[in-house]
Amino acid sequence: MSQSSDLAIFLTNDLAGISRGRAFPAADLKDRMRAGVGWVPANLALTPFGVIGANPFGPLGDLRLQPDADATGFEMTGLNGAPDLKAFMCDIVETDGVPWGGCPRNFAKKALGDLMNEFGLHLKGSFEHEFFLLGDNDIGDAAFTLQDFRSQQDFLGSVIAALTRAGVDPEMILREYGPKQFEVTMKPSRGLAVADRAVILREVTRDIARQFKQRACFAPIIDPTSVGSGVHVHFSLEATDGKPVTHDAGQPGGISVQVASFIAGILKHMPALCALTAPSVISYLRLTPHRWSAGYNSYGYRNREAGVRICPVDDTPGHDISRQVHLEFRASDATASPYMVLGALVRAGLEGLRTKMKAPPLVEGDPADLSAEQLGKLNVRRLPDSLPAALAELDADKVVSSWLPAPLQQGYRALKTAEMERVAKLDPLGQCALYAGYY
Ligand code: GLU
Ligand code: MG
Repeated sequence: MSQSSDLAIFLTNDLAGISRGRAFPAADLKDRMRAGVGWVPANLALTPFGVIGANPFGPLGDLRLQPDADATGFEMTGLNGAPDLKAFMCDIVETDGVPWGGCPRNFAKKALGDLMNEFGLHLKGSFEHEFFLLGDNDIGDAAFTLQDFRSQQDFLGSVIAALTRAGVDPEMILREYGPKQFEVTMKPSRGLAVADRAVILREVTRDIARQFKQRACFAPIIDPTSVGSGVHVHFSLEATDGKPVTHDAGQPGGISVQVASFIAGILKHMPALCALTAPSVISYLRLTPHRWSAGYNSYGYRNREAGVRICPVDDTPGHDISRQVHLEFRASDATASPYMVLGALVRAGLEGLRTKMKAPPLVEGDPADLSAEQLGKLNVRRLPDSLPAALAELDADKVVSSWLPAPLQQGYRALKTAEMERVAKLDPLGQCALYAGYY
């Protein structure tokens, strides 16, 4: 076993979707589970580029990164499978252990708690990831090819093995459509684990790529003229006893009245949600029509231009589809914190559930092909086309902005202001190159 196997690390995944933390001797783990490691409020204003934006916290205040009492963590491993770092996704708490209002993980935890307490529902789901494999490699331009897959099979197989060891149930790995683009998916889990696993999947994939002397780049887009990399959030709802409540064959799209209300809440607030789910400057180079990302807050049956898509199932006669039917939110990418994405989707869904919103109309075809009048009738609109536009939507949507505790609002604003300033003078290609170095 290498010497580094004697280390453990406590991590937070911040508002820029970047994992940061502090390591310590693994022998101290038992004590550290109680005591945590130190952290500071100003870190919430860290830009992806590693600089802290001007913020109201300044040098003051102390916090701790602390795992849940029953957390088991995940192993990071060498290519030979030997564990060499035990990692834990933590909450950010005050020094007395009270959850801090600026903790993204706690934001998701509380939203999931409300979903359970108010409606007796769990969220089941998984984040689907696309990424670019950068570095000295001979991946061609041809999508989905066996030859490109074969050229990287050692790496791809190692990713699947490492994800399995890290406790993430991998599902599939493939050569995606874009140049040097791949996709990795995992099987669904429940509640907060859905976001924890999204972080783990990214970090483990990056870690394996690093060991292959490559970079697994999860930036939303690396070439403004080509396709982007999405993080598609697959979800369904279940009762406490595990009974699925998403499917109802008698309803439009096969989605139950209750889950349709949940979706209606998401679609209603989607322009403002983008500020949290697609939160970087280059997110908006990806989030444009005709890219199979999401240009509109539309609802579609098996439609990849939809903001929320009803996904396909194996409906061979005789197969039970009630546990398969689920939705996919497509307007998110890896510059977002998975915790903020999960929390915001659940909060928006809760708005729909509480007011029993009506099922949204299903839009056929590409919403970009519809006239303004047709879109108006369907209650569908174009999503913001830039980060400033998304931030303006967030300001204007008092419901969405009210979900964010003061420290989250302050940290988020500080970070976004500094991030926008940093990239302002770069052209789109330069912006892509900059972000690619950090994601
Ligand atoms: N690459 C597309 C995106 O940016 C998604 C393509 C797909 O449907 O898998 O979201
Ligand atoms: Mg894909």
